[in-house]
Amino acid sequence: MKVTCPGCQAKINVKDIKNIKKKGLQVEKQCPSCHVWFSLNTTLSFMKMLGVSLLLITSLLNLSGTNSEYSLLFSSLGFVGIVIALLITFFGKNEIVAKQKN
Ligand SMILES: [Zn+2]
Repeated sequence: MKVTCPGCQAKINVKDIKNIKKKGLQVEKQCPSCHVWFSLNTTLSFMKMLGVSLLLITSLLNLSGTNSEYSLLFSSLGFVGIVIALLITFFGKNEIVAKQKN
């Protein structure tokens, strides 16, 4: 999987990113060529989390043997959730993280 650096527009292989910081929902990555820190847009990160949660919740509900009337609905919702999460993973735009002074 490749991401585009918002600083130098280089296509970076995710495996080449050595420096990663986790800040709650946000994951900040450092570009190996221009050393700028970037992360996914906050709204997109939140929606991605929401999509993944939707899949987890609906899968759990289906496993717990909820009324079968609803299981199709839950499966559909879970599918929508994972599609959203995948779309954001592949097409979500990265933003430069404001530089912090040390
Ligand atoms: Zn860069």
